[in-house]
Amino acid sequence: MYQGSCLCGAIHYEIHGELSAAAYCHCSRCRKANGSVFAANATVKESEFRLLQGGEALKTYSTVAGVHRVFCGQCGAPVYSKRDSGPGFLRLRLGLLDTPLAQGPQQHIFVGSKAPWYEIHDGLPQHAERAPV
Ligand SMILES: [Zn+2]
Ligand SMILES: [Zn+2]
Repeated sequence: MYQGSCLCGAIHYEIHGELSAAAYCHCSRCRKANGSVFAANATVKESEFRLLQGGEALKTYSTVAGVHRVFCGQCGAPVYSKRDSGPGFLRLRLGLLDTPLAQGPQQHIFVGSKAPWYEIHDGLPQHAERAPV
């Protein structure tokens, strides 16, 4: 079980399941949405995500591509994204987790669009776009 919360503390959630496909994502959308040089994300089943408090603070930014970025409307912390093309799954923003992970992401994705001023200094696999399935 994992627990997470946003910066202002309005939103608290639990995950009653496993994280999968964890990755550091360097795509320009994640960089802009997070205001950072890359994002750390993992996939969880929507049915295993339980919002404990803060439902009224959750806001959604939806793109024409059918991606919905869900964030705290009070502090702006990104919570998860979901896609029309992947129903039933959420892409969780790992920085909000309060539960320490045994192991962080083991891959970099969308390295082809990473910020040119950031160099990756670990030996983890790098994928130009999505990781091969
Ligand atoms: Zn917040
Ligand atoms: Zn991304």
